[in-house]
Amino acid sequence: MDNKLTKDFEKTVEKTIKDYKLIDKKHKVLVALSGGKDSMSLLYILKNLGYNVEALMIDLETGEHFLKNKENAEAFCRKLEINFHICSLHEEFEMKMLDIWKSIQKKEKLTNCMICGVIKKWMLNKKAKELGFDKMATGHNLDDAAETILMNLFSGNPFLGINEGPMTGIISDKAFVQRIKPLYFCSNEEVRKYSEEKGFKILYKPCPFLTKSSRKGIREGLESLEKEEPEVKRKLVYNFLKRIEPMKREYNNMESVKQCKICGEATRTDLCKKCRIMELLK
Ligand code: AMP
Ligand code: ZN
Repeated sequence: MDNKLTKDFEKTVEKTIKDYKLIDKKHKVLVALSGGKDSMSLLYILKNLGYNVEALMIDLETGEHFLKNKENAEAFCRKLEINFHICSLHEEFEMKMLDIWKSIQKKEKLTNCMICGVIKKWMLNKKAKELGFDKMATGHNLDDAAETILMNLFSGNPFLGINEGPMTGIISDKAFVQRIKPLYFCSNEEVRKYSEEKGFKILYKPCPFLTKSSRKGIREGLESLEKEEPEVKRKLVYNFLKRIEPMKREYNNMESVKQCKICGEATRTDLCKKCRIMELLK
């Protein structure tokens, strides 16, 4: 990727922020930082564009691979003079992720990634609220979006896809810190090239606990389809976003925010997803 391509990449992110009115310079923006290529590139671009950004990492304490990501993320923030927050899973749940996985999987067939994803999302929202941020930015990219759209379609509940788009969460309620995805229209390959070109110190290897899942199968399927039909992921995401507009309006009228009966966090059902999972530990 040459200089023009890195500039084009940054312009795509800037355009997404503008077109979807994701943030402005007055907002306090928290970037959910995993130490991977996506969230590191995102943090770098937002900082360079002059937004008021800080970073938050959930310490998963899953061993060597995570430790390296943590060191890289910390050093990155120090260099860019960005405030780096870290919160530990262990302090919040008195358990490490490895033990949470083991205990839950004795009772129910849930994948590592599913359990980890739900817990991370819950903690990110809780901490972003506690720290007083207006918006929380994650590094989800176009490939993530294409996979999620297909997974939701296959699940048979079309309303599950209603949250798609660079601005997630159709419910704007003070219980949720608005989540945004400024890399939404950047492909995985584009992000990888950008971070390589910028020479970010990053592990490009996937998490060693990544499990065989339907997402992985869909990812592989989309990859081979893309070879036959270039831009198929991009077409899928753009067309889907156009189609869900009327559904969003319908859904908006139906939904209300409740408080989770156990933890008090915002949810659409009686118990939030995190508490439903944690109930399995009892
Ligand atoms: P993943 O679900 O691992 O694909 O990550 C999606 C996005 O969630 C990343 O781009 C980050 O913005 C955020 N994220 C993932 N893991 C962490 C973590 N341990 N701490 C903070 N944010 C994270
Ligand atoms: Zn809860």
